Parts: sequence; structure tokens; C-alpha cells
Amino acid sequence: MGAHAADAGVHPANVVSLAGRIHGGRQHSSGSRVLVLNASYEPINVCTVRRATVLVLKERAEVLESTDGVLRSERMRMRRPCVIRLVRYVRVPRDVHRRKITRKAVLARDSYTCQYCGRESTGLTVDHVVPRSRGGQSVWDNIVAACAPCNRRKGNRLPEEAQMPLRSVPKPPGPHVFIRIAAPRVPPAWEQYLFAA
Ligand SMILES: [Zn+2]
Repeated sequence: MGAHAADAGVHPANVVSLAGRIHGGRQHSSGSRVLVLNASYEPINVCTVRRATVLVLKERAEVLESTDGVLRSERMRMRRPCVIRLVRYVRVPRDVHRRKITRKAVLARDSYTCQYCGRESTGLTVDHVVPRSRGGQSVWDNIVAACAPCNRRKGNRLPEEAQMPLRSVPKPPGPHVFIRIAAPRVPPAWEQYLFAA
């Protein structure tokens, strides 16, 4: 519960001093990140404990789960948040998730599976469905995970020409993909929120 923070009244100085303490504390690999849920409980993001604390102290978010760690300032104490929920619903612009096309994000979206042969592989590459040399763009709808043999075999052809149909239609990933990348090891306290959505 974030009630202690609210009791003390929210003053910018308090926010700064409490948030400032966080860097002095021990950072646990799983405890240093906070899952952010929309008012609708949909997971939308991952942020730092510092950022989460500021949102809670400004009463823009409530704490749903916290860890055993305690954040202290002269005026207040607060348990270290682990999952927070925004008080007001935020429309998540699709652009937020469009902006970064990275190999990591493409592989996570495609569940680390070659989209041509369906094999799970560690050495996956990314393939332009319509090859760049033929005007294919680097957009989510045109990039898929492919194993090296499939990538070589397809070469400069379209999937139809190579008779290598895609196993799913590529599209921009939802917030889950980015949450998974930000926190490869999901803290147990997050699970019920991630998998309920
Ligand atoms: Zn393959």
C-alpha cells in the first residue's frame, strides 16, 4: 500500500528526497524495476523504482505490489513498489511501440521462432519479407525472425516466389513484448498481472 506516502502530504521536496534514497540502496536485479499497469490493469510499461515512487507520491499511481525493501526519507517511509497502477487511464499510442525496431524486439515478438520453418533457434536473424532491394521497408509488418538457413534459402525472393509461406502475419508488437525485453526474468509478483491480461 502507498498510504504512508499520502499521509505525509505530497511536497516536491519529499518526492526528491525519497526518490533520491533509492540509488543508495541495494539494487536487486528483479526488484529494481517496476511493472506499470494502466487504470484498466493492462500492463503497459516497465519503469525504475525512482520513477514509480514519484508517480505514487504525486498520487498519479497506486501501489499494487511491493517488496520487503523500505524507502525512507526524514518525513516518510514507503515500501519499495514492485507493481503500480495508474490512477487515470492513459491511451497508449501505438506509436510508442512502433518506434524501436530492434533485432531483440523482433525475435521476442516472434517467440524466438523462425517464421518460415517454425524452428526455435538461438542463432536467429531478421529477414525482410519483401527484400530491401525490392523496395521492402524496415517496418514491423515487413520484418520477421528467420533462422540462418531459411534466410539464405529465401534470398532475394518474396515468400510466394520461394514457396516459403509465413507462419503468421507480422505486425507491431503489443506492450508485452517490450515488457519482456525490459525484464527478461519476470519477478513472481508480476506474473498474475502479465498473464491475466
Ligand atoms: Zn527456418
